[in-house]
Amino acid sequence: MFTDLIPAIIPNWINGEQSDAQSGRVFDKLSPHSGGKLFGASRSSAVDVEQAIQVARDAQPGWAGLGPVQRGEVLHTIAHLMRSYQDDIAGMVALETGMSFSAATGETAAAIAQGEFMAGEGRRFYGRTTTSAIPDKYASIIRQPMGVAGLIIAANTPIANIAWKVFPALICGNAVVLKAAEDTPATAWLFGLIAEEAGLPDGVLNIIQGLGEEAGAPLAASSGVDVISFTGSTAVGRRIAKTAGERLVKVSLELGGKNPLLVCDDADLDKAVNWTLLAAFSNAGQRCAAASRIIVFDAVYDQFRNSLVERARSLKLGPDDSDDLGPVINEKQLNNMLAVVERARQAGASISLGGHRLDDEAHAKGFYMAPTIIENVDPHDEISVTELFGPITCLYRARDFAQALHMANDSPYGLTAAIHTRSIHRATEFTRKIQAGVAVVNGGTHGSEPHMPFGGLKQSGNGSREPGPEALDVYSELKDIYINIDPGLV
Ligand code: NAD
Repeated sequence: MFTDLIPAIIPNWINGEQSDAQSGRVFDKLSPHSGGKLFGASRSSAVDVEQAIQVARDAQPGWAGLGPVQRGEVLHTIAHLMRSYQDDIAGMVALETGMSFSAATGETAAAIAQGEFMAGEGRRFYGRTTTSAIPDKYASIIRQPMGVAGLIIAANTPIANIAWKVFPALICGNAVVLKAAEDTPATAWLFGLIAEEAGLPDGVLNIIQGLGEEAGAPLAASSGVDVISFTGSTAVGRRIAKTAGERLVKVSLELGGKNPLLVCDDADLDKAVNWTLLAAFSNAGQRCAAASRIIVFDAVYDQFRNSLVERARSLKLGPDDSDDLGPVINEKQLNNMLAVVERARQAGASISLGGHRLDDEAHAKGFYMAPTIIENVDPHDEISVTELFGPITCLYRARDFAQALHMANDSPYGLTAAIHTRSIHRATEFTRKIQAGVAVVNGGTHGSEPHMPFGGLKQSGNGSREPGPEALDVYSELKDIYINIDPGLV
């Protein structure tokens, strides 16, 4: 198992070699389950980032020169190796995040599927040929690499977040500098090891460990980076957009959500409760797509609410496969959530379930937040408009469909949304009018499959979509080509 080989200090990957931060500085990675130190990680700074960018610039032309089919073959090998090491990767994800091994295995499978899909894109690297208004003139469009892609990711689903960005960036012929999430350094390190074994040329994928301000900010600011792709909070996304705006570099932002799930009076209430539990609490609510605003028709509110609270009360917390959800990723995040819940309580909210940190012997040392259901809050209160990124959801009453839809859309975010109804008319009207990048009928507020574009409106993103073939638009430049011929010379 790779987990037995984890270095005491997780290094960077630069030019195919593992190296510590030049300053020698280190930060601690703690177990979300036990609170104990797992290992250290290199605390990189601007000098390490610049070194990685330079190496990537040097390696990129050779990688681009291979062409998309050959690049796809290397990506196939990486995905294939990931499949053979699936248990090791899942073990690492579980160790670093506190999620169960089975949940981590599911996430790893999604990351592999992403690799396989993007590898196949090497043989579908479509441009376009089209017409010209001028006789004997031929017009077409091809994709070209951008250069160096600077990728910055969150820790919530670490191997999926890596796959979502690295595979499309590579298939397009870019070299990559990936800033790993500080809460999941070893998963990124392991991905580097697998890429190395797969024969990815040195310098094409460089991985920098470190903190956001110290290692992420210099990556976004560097003139050596030609495209930035960021997955994380809206607050940091805004800062990255500012930096990108100043140097007019392309940027893709996949940000937060405050996702509504509507329960209509004609819904199958058992199924709606099941989906709400999954959408609100799986991965301890640490999903950009988590359902954090449950909008329920008055007519079924009490029945739905009672069943949801009862079912959520029996959820088991812990790191094992028999548990329903694990801890949140770090203590700071836990304390932020507790503070917002406390302010809501003081403002008159009813905490119908949870609202506190687990303090029993099995959980007290870890970062466990009890599954929390909150009622009697205004749709514009802090807790209704702030992404908490934990196992906390609020219930709201709606008179009818029109009011429920209005409440769903009355949000600074627009990432995902779901409706539970048996009416095709309501379902279709919802999918047309909801302001979200993903709309789901009779399911959870979930992310997209690897071949589908994912992204959000309003403060959930800047309009880009990853993954799916649409991710190729993030990581490539389009070039128009016009060829004029002279039939007289044939
Ligand atoms: P975060 O914004 O604090 O950190 C994300 C990454 O940005 C980390 O690698 C961090 O080191 C880095 N970072 C922090 N400050 C930086 C700076 N000034 N410059 C450059 N990089 C910096 O987010 P988080 O709390 O780690 O993750 C949770 C957030 O991610 C939530 O808002 C969640 O919704 C979002 N998320 C979005 C998606 C999506 O696809 N839309 C997917 C997963 C997570």
